[in-house]
Amino acid sequence: MSGTSPYRQLPSVDRLLGHSLLDPLVEQVGHDKAVHLARALLDEARAAIRRGEAPPAFDDLARVLADRLRAAARPSLRPVINATGVIIHTNLGRAPLSDAARAAVDAVSRGYSNLEYDLEAGRRGSRYVHAVTLLRDITGAEDALVVNNNAGAVFLILRALALGREVIISRGQLVEIGGGFRIPDILAESGAILHEVGTTNRTHLRDYERALGEQTALILRVHQSNFRQVGFVTQPSLADLVALAHAHGLPLVDDLGSGTFLDTRPFGLAYEPRVQDSLAAGADLVSFSGDKLLGGPQAGIIVGKAEYVERLRRHPLARALRVDKMTLSALEATLSAYRRGTATVGIPVWRMIAASVDSLRERAIGWADRLREAGVEASVEESVSAVGGGSLPGETLPTWAVVVRPSSAARLAAALRVWEPPIIARVEDDAVWLDPRTVLPEQDDALVEGIVRCVVG
Ligand SMILES: *Cc1c(COP(=O)(O)O)cnc(C)c1O
Repeated sequence: MSGTSPYRQLPSVDRLLGHSLLDPLVEQVGHDKAVHLARALLDEARAAIRRGEAPPAFDDLARVLADRLRAAARPSLRPVINATGVIIHTNLGRAPLSDAARAAVDAVSRGYSNLEYDLEAGRRGSRYVHAVTLLRDITGAEDALVVNNNAGAVFLILRALALGREVIISRGQLVEIGGGFRIPDILAESGAILHEVGTTNRTHLRDYERALGEQTALILRVHQSNFRQVGFVTQPSLADLVALAHAHGLPLVDDLGSGTFLDTRPFGLAYEPRVQDSLAAGADLVSFSGDKLLGGPQAGIIVGKAEYVERLRRHPLARALRVDKMTLSALEATLSAYRRGTATVGIPVWRMIAASVDSLRERAIGWADRLREAGVEASVEESVSAVGGGSLPGETLPTWAVVVRPSSAARLAAALRVWEPPIIARVEDDAVWLDPRTVLPEQDDALVEGIVRCVVG
């Protein structure tokens, strides 16, 4: 091209897309999207020239476009390395699935399944039969229903059992779970009428007793989940609430939030009410999440008395909240680890909770050694991990973290976040802390490599 116009020195869209750097990328993104990105980049270059800048070199343009095409080719939702030490990290997808759960999803989703087919009868079956036997076996419940998530489970219960009628709940349990999910809001949306009793810190059985009336549909207990009250605090026992509800012919519904089948105390954690304990205390319906302490897929699990579960199952809203075959298969595989008694070895969340301090220290030392060999200053220091996910607030597990102290911890943490795969670390005391507890063993190499490249370049 002749002429002195700097604009004439810019390549055409076609010539730019033909650059060897972009060869596999254009195909990955799709031709139209690639053309769109190339045009936008050339527009930017023309604007820069208008401001008096020199036209960019052909190879530089191609390099920038290659980065943009790579970014466009990446899925929006993708794996990250969780080095925060928060085991059930709601922002990072909560519970990682077990090998068995992933294999079950793969088996059931790559072809057809008996999702709604009765194999013995050779006719239409119900998706609601799956996972029920496992849940019954593990919890001792009469019946069970799995829906999309626990917020949906609570909503369905209130709608089906308390529409236009009163639900009695303690003022100490009118909690906000996170992500804007507030118990009073969900009650209002369901069409149930909130009847709050007691005070923020103290609610007595007699408070519930006084509130009972013609309009009462049920008594609801909600796990406080993400905060803890200490000091001058009281709540009636679940057994007392159950006795009161039953004396008036009403159901007691217990929203456990996280819900666990295993006793948390042997792991050095506070007591977290188990699903079995609530049922043994007489709760008519107990609801909990599939992807918190259970360590399975996102789901809302309801267990309890058959007459109530059946009413929920028949409600039209159940259809709107139903789960798909991938959720059910992952859940069944997760549940069967509990029934076998292998949850602490098979389910990642429990493996992380059960990890010994010595094994974590050993891993941290291994990371630090490799980092130092590559020229990154790193120390190994005592720290704490958290369970997270709105369970066991304030409870921590002792751990050892790798600590990197660059000139700017915030800048290193930001670089790690946009690394591929993204590495999410904690910033504390102007240092970057990486906790091995939540990093899957197969991610060790990628983690060390990512830190080295972000620090050393
Ligand atoms: C987390 C939680 C919920 C919501 O559960 P999702 O599975 O996130 O919908 C409801 N109630 C309580 C008490 C919780 O802790």
